[in-house]
Formats: sequence, C-alpha cells, structure tokens
Amino acid sequence: MARLIDIVFDLILVIVVARMLWSALRGLFGSAATRSSPTDPASRPQGKRETVRGETARDPVCGMFVSTELSHRLEWHGKLLHFCSEECLNQYRKSASA
Ligand SMILES: [Zn+2]
Repeated sequence: MARLIDIVFDLILVIVVARMLWSALRGLFGSAATRSSPTDPASRPQGKRETVRGETARDPVCGMFVSTELSHRLEWHGKLLHFCSEECLNQYRKSASA
C-alpha cells in the first residue's frame, strides 16, 4: 500500500516536472518567435526605403530630419528649406536676416 502511494507521488512529481519543462520550452520557443519577428520587416527593405527616399529634409536649425510633407517650409533665396517647427523656422529667419 505504501509503495502504491510512492508510485502515485512519483507520477505526480513527474507530471509536475514535465509541465514545468514544457512551459519552459514553450517560453523559449515563444521568445524565439518574438525575437525572429523583428527581422521580418528587415527582410523586406523596399518598404522602409520608400518612406525615406526623397521625403525627408534636414532642419538647418536643430539638425533634425523632418518629413517634407509635414515640415514647416520656407523659401529662402530660391531654396526650399524644411523645419521641424515654426520655432526653428523663425529662428532661422532671425539669424539669417541679422
Ligand atoms: Zn528644428
């Protein structure tokens, strides 16, 4: 009778350990899957290149790259300048006229 209880306890222990191992393995595979997913868009660089190509300009005041669609524009001596904000635009205008 005592041996039967031992066997049952051993069985429970084995099941518990197996479940722990399984969840650990699932965690490993899960983290591996999330680790591999950021490389997915990197394997398709065309999409990323398209958003950068010809659509960003450097703000001459703060050096920030801004989208030419969202930038504050100023035509200065026939040159179109792009600024991240009106503050930068005004600062450039001030320093250029001074
Ligand atoms: Zn700026």
